[in-house]
Amino acid sequence: MKVEIKQVKYLGSMHYQDQKSISKVQLEQIPWVQHNFGNRPAWMCILGLIEELGELSHSFLKRAQGIRTSENHDDKIKDAVADIVIFLCDFCTSEGIDLEKEVLKTWNKVKKRDWKKDPTGKQTV
Ligand SMILES: [Mg+2]
Repeated sequence: MKVEIKQVKYLGSMHYQDQKSISKVQLEQIPWVQHNFGNRPAWMCILGLIEELGELSHSFLKRAQGIRTSENHDDKIKDAVADIVIFLCDFCTSEGIDLEKEVLKTWNKVKKRDWKKDPTGKQTV
């Protein structure tokens, strides 16, 4: 079974200048979470994250299998991906982590890796 990679298509519709900050989402989320759920342990965010990964898996699998065609798998995949990031923001806030800062810090390392040039990974960061 061949699975089409839609990443390029999706990224093609994105414009750099339109990007919103994940930090903005994380900051806006703090009073919303406090209002709706109060103080709760960080593991609840992890469970929410896992739940959303399950929703992503469900829609991605059903689309690949060509079943449950009454469901809009493309929309559900987008919704699940967004919910994953939202739960991850909540978890990071609980742990005092600036998600955007950490993503950029790690991405700046990862993007220097060239797996074509160095498949062993011994020369990479
Ligand atoms: Mg969801």
